[in-house]
Amino acid sequence: MKIAIIVREKTMERCTGKGCFRAFNNREDSFSDYGEDTELVSFMNDGGDFDYKIQKLIDLGVDTVHLSTCIRGKNENYEEMAEKLSEHFNIIGYTHGNAEGRSRSAVILHKK
Ligand code: SF4
Repeated sequence: MKIAIIVREKTMERCTGKGCFRAFNNREDSFSDYGEDTELVSFMNDGGDFDYKIQKLIDLGVDTVHLSTCIRGKNENYEEMAEKLSEHFNIIGYTHGNAEGRSRSAVILHKK
């Protein structure tokens, strides 16, 4: 099982990704159902040539994409991004913290 995390470009100006990696390495929060054999094969931001990067994730054989908790909190295109990505991947719309979130619940989608 290969997974990827997509984080918010603006947030990455100040974030090391610590919360995302802690949750993944400890199999906590959005990663609690994964076994030890789950590979995190990409940690990328939502900026730049996004369509090009999506194709790279497809080429890598990614099964599931996690949209980060900061995207859920601050990217107004969160739902649209999740819908678009679900054409190719299963989507889990958060990384660390609770699935419910402060302002909105995490989008969970199966690949179409
Ligand atoms: S979800 Fe948290 S740890 Fe991950 S990139 Fe966003 S602010 Fe950083």
